[in-house]
Amino acid sequence: MSSSMFRKKSRSRVRHHRAQWHRRMSVPQLAPCPNPRCRQVKPAHVLCPACGQHRGRQVLSPTRD
Ligand SMILES: [Zn+2]
Repeated sequence: MSSSMFRKKSRSRVRHHRAQWHRRMSVPQLAPCPNPRCRQVKPAHVLCPACGQHRGRQVLSPTRD
């Protein structure tokens, strides 16, 4: 075992990495709903609030207002 395996990450390096992670989590990608009868713009890879479908499956009952 060489001592280089236990090299400490510098403070700026850790903070830079955490800042990038936070930025990625706080800004979701917006994409239209894959449901052709909906097409509501929503954050990608989440349950659609308008039609209640996710990945081709009906998860919630659609909202009607
Ligand atoms: Zn939808």
